[in-house]
Amino acid sequence: MTDAVAECNIKVLCRFRPLNQAEILRGDKFLPTFQADDTVIIAGKPYVFDRVFPTNTTQEQVYNTCAKQIVKDVLGGYNGTIFAYGQTSSGKTHTMEGNLHDPQQMGIIPRIAEDIFNHIFSMDENLEFHIKVSYFEIYMEKIRDLLDVTKTNLSVHEDKNRVPYVKGCTERFVSSPEEVMDVIDEGKSNRHVAVTNMNEHSSRSHSIFLINIKQEHVETEQKLCGKLYLVDLAGSEKVSKTGAAGAVLDEAKNINKSLSSLGNVISALAEGTKTHVPYRDSKMTRILQDSLGGNCRTTMFICCSPSSYNDAETKSTLMFGQRAK
Ligand code: ADP
Ligand code: MG
Repeated sequence: MTDAVAECNIKVLCRFRPLNQAEILRGDKFLPTFQADDTVIIAGKPYVFDRVFPTNTTQEQVYNTCAKQIVKDVLGGYNGTIFAYGQTSSGKTHTMEGNLHDPQQMGIIPRIAEDIFNHIFSMDENLEFHIKVSYFEIYMEKIRDLLDVTKTNLSVHEDKNRVPYVKGCTERFVSSPEEVMDVIDEGKSNRHVAVTNMNEHSSRSHSIFLINIKQEHVETEQKLCGKLYLVDLAGSEKVSKTGAAGAVLDEAKNINKSLSSLGNVISALAEGTKTHVPYRDSKMTRILQDSLGGNCRTTMFICCSPSSYNDAETKSTLMFGQRAK
């Protein structure tokens, strides 16, 4: 028997967005230089990842190099998680979602939805698929259902097999990629309605899209289950930069706490030698417990700004990614 922790497969990918118009007008410098396909150099210091995507990388290239295989694995009965980590405006949502309705600008989630159904149509006719999705966010350690606005404080439970799940969270059965996109649109518009400042809110909450795939052979009744968590994390920026105080400061600390507990879990898994993985330190790591360790596929996108203005945040983001290696 192999050790479940050692078996866990964590990939860390780093993506740099281009300079934006405001940064160009301000005269910011473009910091990174890219070397081979796995190294970025900032101020003379190299950072090596499983893969580094320079600013001109297309959404399709990103998907093909790293998410496509996960879809096959989840259909093969594995669990997985894909995260996007980085400061606000570094490209997390662009990477995970992109423009849902533009074939070129679609991000990972809509491409996964298309890919899943393409695979299913080409698979054994004797397999029956049940695919359901959930969409929720974690804000100040509270779980809010994005598909039912009345559910604002859901809790994490464990089923009889000790698999953690969000109790009472809405599950929608889907039978086409279009239905998946509809669910995402619905969740996003609920999110907009519930908050006053969407930019601020999305930079402080973690949004989690869950795809659950169950397949059953109609004759043998053999079953296979896999699930995939797709996580657009809260912004990783330091509190000081925003000059926060009082309630806003508490909020920022809380977010940094759940990001740091995620970092601790990932680095414990990456080391592979630790017997204690601190899953219980935050709701997010509890929920993800059976999709991060052991029988799983984990991919972390480290999203970065290339601008000299964001120098310090970019370095701290790159260091976070290095901890997972
Ligand atoms: P975050 O979710 O990390 O706050 P966004 O994904 O919303 O950041 O990105 C901020 C802005 O930069 C958006 O307007 C987005 O379209 C743009 N952007 C991000 N990444 C890229 C990229 N790789 N190429 C082109 N534009 C990008
Ligand atoms: Mg975002």
